[in-house]
Amino acid sequence: MIDPVKILHDVFGFPSFREGQEEIVRAVLAGEDVLAVMPTGAGKSLCFQLPTLAREGLTLVVSPLIALMRDQVAALRHFGIEAGSLNSANDQDENRRVVDAVRDRRMRILYASPERLANTGTTEWLARSGVNLLAIDEAHCVSQWGHDFRPEYAMLGEVRQRLGNVQTIALTATADVATRGDIMHRLFEEEPRLFIHGFDRPNLRLAMQAKENSKRQLFGFLDKHRHESGIVYCSSRDATERLADSLSQAGYRALPYHAGMHQQDRAKNQDIFLQEDGVVMVATVAFGMGIDKPDVRFVAHAALPKSIEAYYQEIGRAGRDGAPADTLTLYGLDDMRLRRLQIEESDAADEQKRVERQRLNALVALCEAPRCRRQTLLAYFGESAEPCGNCDLCIDGVMSFDGTIEAQKILSAIVRTGERFGTEHLISILTGEATDSIRRFGHDKLKTFGVGGDRSKNEWRSLLRQIYAAGLIGLELAEYGRWTLTDRGVAVLKGQEKIELRSDVLMKPAERRRRRG
Ligand code: ADP
Ligand code: ZN
Repeated sequence: MIDPVKILHDVFGFPSFREGQEEIVRAVLAGEDVLAVMPTGAGKSLCFQLPTLAREGLTLVVSPLIALMRDQVAALRHFGIEAGSLNSANDQDENRRVVDAVRDRRMRILYASPERLANTGTTEWLARSGVNLLAIDEAHCVSQWGHDFRPEYAMLGEVRQRLGNVQTIALTATADVATRGDIMHRLFEEEPRLFIHGFDRPNLRLAMQAKENSKRQLFGFLDKHRHESGIVYCSSRDATERLADSLSQAGYRALPYHAGMHQQDRAKNQDIFLQEDGVVMVATVAFGMGIDKPDVRFVAHAALPKSIEAYYQEIGRAGRDGAPADTLTLYGLDDMRLRRLQIEESDAADEQKRVERQRLNALVALCEAPRCRRQTLLAYFGESAEPCGNCDLCIDGVMSFDGTIEAQKILSAIVRTGERFGTEHLISILTGEATDSIRRFGHDKLKTFGVGGDRSKNEWRSLLRQIYAAGLIGLELAEYGRWTLTDRGVAVLKGQEKIELRSDVLMKPAERRRRRG
């Protein structure tokens, strides 16, 4: 085997590995199956390309986009590596070149669309030619819970078997827990090594505030960033127009951007934002895909983002140059209630609804996080971190109280019901509400029944989200919606550890203002 570091220098010409790459490369070279979760641009391709070159044989790469395949093949050939692709856009000559190179065992990295591999003839031919490693790019496409489900991806588990249970590396930028679980179930028979890296963006300052007077909060934030380029995300087309107007009146160079605008106006505003300094883009989520402006200094959300993933993508458009950038997200209880209602009233399947509910819970938990926001955010993606010193919670602290007893009440309700129930059921137990389902399971006879009658259901919902954000409870991957205790949760339940929870998020806005003085 050739030394991976040597290949990194000699073939790719990179001075060093990026975060996560080396560990993944070494795991692949050790023969392990891998699921690698890294954000876009982090350098996932190297994780299968380099191991291929360090040993013998053919790597088959599944990729959904023909344009992407072409770029990668061109880049590899530029490095002097025999690479090719099987796709419908190839001409005769290219096809012949690919087939010959595979037959002569010269081909090192072959890209194919999942549609191609659904053809058993193609897979059998590849199996005979000997595939050494299967790399599945954009692996989240196997998941029905994602935004990008592709039925052909569902077949890839089978393709893997037909290739002789070949060693497999799956790669994705989507770290959502439900999606990750789905990838594991559908592509692998045994659990792969999981690597999650590179989600931290330390130069981004993180802050979230409950809406009190949202205009004043937003203008206060923007005032610190006069003459800088930035984006303010709004939840509706109307809202972008209105806010752009009032910002213009306040002396900002602010422009609206949303999908309802004429194509030309939209393009014009986007160009101004890209080319000029100090423009505030007031936009819906339609703005930002593929925008690469390195010196965006701030991103604000005037309303709750769609999900943690969307939040991460959207704030990630700030500070690409690595210099400090500022973010602020305003959230309202109304936003949350509305979102909940939309989920319940949609005609999605129950399973899908459960996943959506969990996603919303995770997002709200981030808003109400009792500890460093970056820790909470990264924990959602599966990365651990120290308190960052660069978020509102680290800098300002929070109004907190010793929430050990409250946490114990919730934890005990979870344990006494066998870690098999979701939020609303548990809260009915705590508040002593004998619903049909509570009676059916005999949970009105539990010792915990009614022990939380001193607090409202909303307060308990917040407390539950907080102990989730603090890492005391987790979600069962296989069956979405059941809460289970983590080691830390067990320690708190046994009284071996205490937990501080936030009191400010349990108060009504008026009371919060009064207390703050
Ligand atoms: P992803 O698939 O994760 O979105 P890519 O694999 O396309 O990202 O890599 C993004 C860019 O980073 C590419 O231009 C690639 O050449 C470059 N890159 C990858 N690894 C390194 C490294 N170790 N050092 C420098 N550049 C790298
Ligand atoms: Zn922090």
